Amino acid sequence: EKRLANKIAVVTGGASGIGRASALRLAAEGATVAIVDLKESDALPVQQEIQQAGGECLVVEADVSNPESMEKAISSISEKFGAIHIVLSNAGINGAFSPIEELSADEWDQTIQTNLRGTFLTVKNCLPHMKKHGGSIIITSSINGNRTFSNFGMAAYSTSKAGQMAFGKMAALELAQYKIRVNIICPGAIETNIEENTFRNEEKLEEIQIPVEYPEGNQPLKHKSAEPEQVAHLVYFLASEESNHITGSEMYIDGAESLL
Ligand code: NAD
Repeated sequence: EKRLANKIAVVTGGASGIGRASALRLAAEGATVAIVDLKESDALPVQQEIQQAGGECLVVEADVSNPESMEKAISSISEKFGAIHIVLSNAGINGAFSPIEELSADEWDQTIQTNLRGTFLTVKNCLPHMKKHGGSIIITSSINGNRTFSNFGMAAYSTSKAGQMAFGKMAALELAQYKIRVNIICPGAIETNIEENTFRNEEKLEEIQIPVEYPEGNQPLKHKSAEPEQVAHLVYFLASEESNHITGSEMYIDGAESLL
């Protein structure tokens, strides 16, 4: 029997990048996956891939930062499948990359709301469907929650990612009584749309003044790229019973970039 057989997994931001790779991996291990993303049409190809491989996948359209939208989305998932065991709170944006003086309050709010409020609302709404039997919550933060390699422009993003770390640890403490584990993953540079649009865009790179060759100059392992599938291995491990003594941890997947 597959290792995640009979498990129901919710993946936010599952239409693309790290969320997509993780949804595919969790499904390959036997989990039934519910993808929550902004546009149903963006997630349908992932659903199709999962179904073609013999897995089960539901797509639910929602904005993670919107309380009503999330309440509705998570209720529909629990109504269909009866329970939730695994949650990957992963939907996120880079948002505006402006120096603090030029960053507007609305731009600040948009990044914090999507990344941080989104994680809070995801966990809050999934909880009632996890408490009876326990489970595993994984939050996609970033090495940027602790440090940032660019000279400026990442104040809101880094703040949201640091907030996700703090929230994840508080949740780990609070939810241990229900045998719900909560861990935080902190990727370095991973090749996804987010990365493509910012760090691999010449103009942007100049704007945000990265002082070294990106990304390998930042990283002792000197990998030129890391794939979302590498992150999905970690997501699978944290979702599975193999990690049943790990909670409240921050796990770096960054070629030791965060140590420099
Ligand atoms: P991505 O753009 O490929 O995927 C992000 C997904 O989130 C998209 O499908 C998008 O539609 C969805 N999303 C955005 N806002 C949403 C909202 N309000 N409601 C619902 N869905 C929403 O990017 P990715 O790199 O796979 O990003 C996933 C997570 O990984 C993010 O939290 C990001 O901050 C984090 N991260 C990425 C990197 C990297 O280098 N790519 C590094 C560290 C952390």
